[in-house]
Amino acid sequence: MSDLKKTDQDFTKVVVIERNNFDFLFDVLTKRGYHVIGPTLNEGAIIYDTIRNSNDLPLGWIDEQNSGKYRLLKQGNQALFGFNSTPQSWKPFLHKPRARLWQSKRDGNKFTIIPEAPENRKFAFLCVRSCDLYAISILDKVFIDSPFSDSQYRFQRSDIFIAAVNCTHAGGTCFCLSMNTGPEVTEGYDIVMTEVVENDRHYFVVSAGTPKGWEILHDIPYTEANTHDIETAARLVDKTKTEMGRAIDTTGIKQMLYNNSESPRWQEIARRCLTCANCTMVCPTCFCSTIEDVTDLTGDEAERWRKWDSCFTMDFSYIHGGSIRPSVFSRYRQWLTHKFAAWQDQFGTFGCVGCGRCITWCPVGIDVTEEINSIKNSEQNNPSNILIKENR
Ligand code: SF4
Ligand code: SF4
Repeated sequence: MSDLKKTDQDFTKVVVIERNNFDFLFDVLTKRGYHVIGPTLNEGAIIYDTIRNSNDLPLGWIDEQNSGKYRLLKQGNQALFGFNSTPQSWKPFLHKPRARLWQSKRDGNKFTIIPEAPENRKFAFLCVRSCDLYAISILDKVFIDSPFSDSQYRFQRSDIFIAAVNCTHAGGTCFCLSMNTGPEVTEGYDIVMTEVVENDRHYFVVSAGTPKGWEILHDIPYTEANTHDIETAARLVDKTKTEMGRAIDTTGIKQMLYNNSESPRWQEIARRCLTCANCTMVCPTCFCSTIEDVTDLTGDEAERWRKWDSCFTMDFSYIHGGSIRPSVFSRYRQWLTHKFAAWQDQFGTFGCVGCGRCITWCPVGIDVTEEINSIKNSEQNNPSNILIKENR
């Protein structure tokens, strides 16, 4: 076991966990009552689900991603975390796709409301990437820090152990570097690790970000990292920065989008967009929902459910008299402009962390980076726009 004292809370310490000791992490987390959720293979994709030990992880699998394309490939080594962003984010564990909010039961001439009890499960999230950590912090702003705090989210979020993993290569649709959200994990984690697979050695360079993280690390056999270990891990993350599949320039993007609400490009996108809402379902920060009330046939019991919704559905913007965004172009414009412009006014951040999921999982391959670059270029090439700018 480690030679450091348990009371030592020096978070700057960097340690090495060898691959053959990695499974201690599961034992230590489980003993402390955590239900470990992490990446696993399921029907040709890597999804997040219950993980009992490292054999449940996608050993040796990597992914290939592009607009509307995702496939898994077996690589030559047995890396645990060799893949990039997964189809599903951490959002479903914090903000459930379908959640009952309360039940009501008839009691004579009145109804009694029974609020939904929070689910009593402590999660440990294993393999949270930097972009997804930023996405969780955005959800925190929406569900905890806003004036309309969400009690279910707040409860679920209150005791989560976050084991983050630095990306050691970038996916084909990643653009976290442009969004300043990765690939290196910098905050919001309990422990962070970088996986290193060398010819004859497989290990993890790990450090803690909280006392809770240090407590867990302490119970796993480790050695202190040497200069070679630390430099190798840093080199892998630096290399990842040079491999980004996509890029956008966010300078002035908010005003650029507000200026271009009538760009012909929106109509062009609308010819391709199916309004299937996939992009909002896979997005780690899209949080919109709808409410549905159901009753039993006797009318003695009723329930209120919250379900994920999307700005791509007609019903989402239905108000008295009809939908205020009936056209496809208005719905796509709403989504993209909210993500990259209005979100800043509303929450002080972008609503996008550059994970690339909406690009990979769009069935017709619509690429948000391509659309932004196109709108920006058409603005620069349009003399009337230049004139408008000059006259401002
Ligand atoms: S942009 Fe793609 S994923 Fe999003 S609604 Fe349109 S077709 Fe579906
Ligand atoms: S908008 Fe697309 S790239 Fe940005 S966070 Fe959502 S899914 Fe990821």
